[in-house]
Amino acid sequence: PDLTGPYAKEIKSHLTSTFGLATFRKNQFEAINAAMAGRDVFVLMPTGGGKSLCYQLPAVCTGGKTKGVTIVVSPLLALMNDQVNGLKSKSINAVLWTSNTSEAEAQQIRSSLYSSNKPTLLYVTPERLKVSSTTKNILSHLYRINELARFVVDEAHCISTWGQDFREAYQNLHILREEFPNVPIMALTATADRKTVDDILERLRLSSPAVFEQSFNRTNLNYTVVPKRSVDEMVTFIKTKHPNQTGVIYRTGRDKCEKLAHQLRQKGLKAAHFHARMDNEDKEKVQQEWKNGQCHIIVATIAFGMGIDKADVRFVIHFDLPKNMDGYYQETGRAGRDGQPANCVLYYAYRDLQPILKMIRDTKDPHTNPASIERQEAAVRAVVRYCENNSVCRRTQILQHFGEKFDKKDCKNQCNNCADQGLLETADYTQQAKIVIRLVQSFERSQENVTIDQCRSIFKGANTAAVRDKGHDQLPAFGAGKDIPKEVLELLFNKLLFLDALVEKSVQTTTKWHVQYLRMGKKAQDYLSGSKKVELSHRPKGVK
Ligand code: ADP
Ligand code: ZN
Repeated sequence: PDLTGPYAKEIKSHLTSTFGLATFRKNQFEAINAAMAGRDVFVLMPTGGGKSLCYQLPAVCTGGKTKGVTIVVSPLLALMNDQVNGLKSKSINAVLWTSNTSEAEAQQIRSSLYSSNKPTLLYVTPERLKVSSTTKNILSHLYRINELARFVVDEAHCISTWGQDFREAYQNLHILREEFPNVPIMALTATADRKTVDDILERLRLSSPAVFEQSFNRTNLNYTVVPKRSVDEMVTFIKTKHPNQTGVIYRTGRDKCEKLAHQLRQKGLKAAHFHARMDNEDKEKVQQEWKNGQCHIIVATIAFGMGIDKADVRFVIHFDLPKNMDGYYQETGRAGRDGQPANCVLYYAYRDLQPILKMIRDTKDPHTNPASIERQEAAVRAVVRYCENNSVCRRTQILQHFGEKFDKKDCKNQCNNCADQGLLETADYTQQAKIVIRLVQSFERSQENVTIDQCRSIFKGANTAAVRDKGHDQLPAFGAGKDIPKEVLELLFNKLLFLDALVEKSVQTTTKWHVQYLRMGKKAQDYLSGSKKVELSHRPKGVK
């Protein structure tokens, strides 16, 4: 980039002498420059892109339009702690002030802020900025004496109710602009689609901000989705592609994490589990062993990763369905932060959708409401769509989620849809779909409760007692799908559920808890009338 302008000299000198770095990464210099000029700045950068330098470097400069203390607001304690320690090791006066800070320490921080030896950067949690808090009184003091350089709002997407990471305390951050109108604000995030970005800019009241957005494409990551069949297949993948390398496997429940880590150890892999319910000491130990290479694989819930900075993660596996594309992107984004190739493999099974939907509906979160549940359901269905869409480049699909256009020729076959292109078979299954929908329609009319497995058996013409006993072998649909390969048959039923042509309804019976029975979906008529088609692409037998 063109490293010129009135502040270029000081910026470049700090890059090398204070931070020990050789060159700027994309948008860093530009964002720093805009901050030095006293502007509001918005930075959208993928995880690992180097957001912190964008506010740490201007904080140590003296030649900019503003002077004084840089206030950094972040929701992630561990991350703030790492940063403050990192800054201290560079002899930068950085201070962390949270609810964990002892009274003695807090006293010291307060007096330093009133003294002439003020910290360069003050990291606070958003909770500290509440109305009439001590922190706010101190900020007002700094404001009056013109010693507030800048507010930095890290993880700025937490302010948006659109996102999954919405934080109550972030709601309050509009006070920064209202109470300290002349202090520039810099907002940074790694996760934001168009709607969220607009929401952030508005809620923080940024005024004509300098906006820096960069591609979310992670060129060194390979994205693959494969059918989930067995743990053994995954073990084989790890042993052949990533022997003795570092990786993360994400699962949705803590029991599943513990069980899988145990299975992996039995198969000779160095694995440990990690989830939110472990006590801090155990968490610390596991993270440490993983960081220093004693443990290769962490099997974790999404509680793992916030603030984890390990550069040589060679693979990230999702062994359950991710809850939304944002999360999927962030979690896979922890692979290959050193820029070297890394694999992101998602083991997909449609049956994994139901437990997640149940989790969303059964939430104990008191802040939830029908709209938010609907949004979360739509978000997980977007993941299913991603998994099942094996004809469009995976990068194109992922980046589209962030509102970014991506030409598949730039994928360089680093996703399994591009790599397997030409091997996929696509065919029209509208006729077969109609037969299945009519079958479900007839059961609905006769008020007969039939599960998806029973329906599939009837359709493929299974000669079993269960089918015969109910007289299902006499139905016109019996055996109508006998020529369809087994994988396609599964795909067809999944697709019909996905398209809302069919739905599974939970029914509580006296003998069993929730049994799922098939019913006509909202869109069933569109397919029966032929106004919509059902196309399936699938990997023929023998193709991974
Ligand atoms: P983010 O907050 O965007 O996830 P960080 O600010 O934590 O990213 O930076 C990620 C890693 O990249 C850190 O290890 C950091 O030291 C490194 N880094 C940042 N900027 C540069 C640069 N210009 N040159 C080399 N390494 C950098
Ligand atoms: Zn691709």
